[in-house]
Amino acid sequence: MGAYFSEIFLGLKSLFIGLGITFKEFFKPVVTVAYPYQTIKMSERYRGHIELIEDEEGNPKCVVCGMCERGCPSGCISLASESVEYEVEVKGEMKTKKKKVLTKYDLNFTTCSLCGQCVESCNFGAIKFSKEYNLASSRKEDFHFDLLNRLKERNS
Ligand code: SF4
Ligand code: SF4
Repeated sequence: MGAYFSEIFLGLKSLFIGLGITFKEFFKPVVTVAYPYQTIKMSERYRGHIELIEDEEGNPKCVVCGMCERGCPSGCISLASESVEYEVEVKGEMKTKKKKVLTKYDLNFTTCSLCGQCVESCNFGAIKFSKEYNLASSRKEDFHFDLLNRLKERNS
């Protein structure tokens, strides 16, 4: 008979402990979101794949110096450029000068370790880490990014 009441007591004790925990958690602030319907703002230090930064006119700030491409330990970056002529006024005279213009900035994100060497080596503030985290695919081709095109799409 004693064992019978002891079991009831233990059962009730365990029930009230469980209810106590549930009650306490019920009033705690919610720390999860209903993804994918809700998303959270990524922290400042979050590193997504790199992306190009544009100037005031919407053009890439990249001057095609090649430092990021050379500095990438995984060989993820592939650049191309063309030389274009432009007119500039020097002491009242129009002069023709040449400059490099970026025509391709490809990133192979499949081998990128997000080390940050490219961002650190850019002296022109032309690339940064994106806040992109929502990447999923079974095809590796989907992680080869045309960053110049992505910049154009962002601005269109
Ligand atoms: S973060 Fe590192 S591995 Fe990724 S592209 Fe930049 S330099 Fe290469
Ligand atoms: S280091 Fe900067 S400016 Fe130079 S090629 Fe890379 S992104 Fe462009």
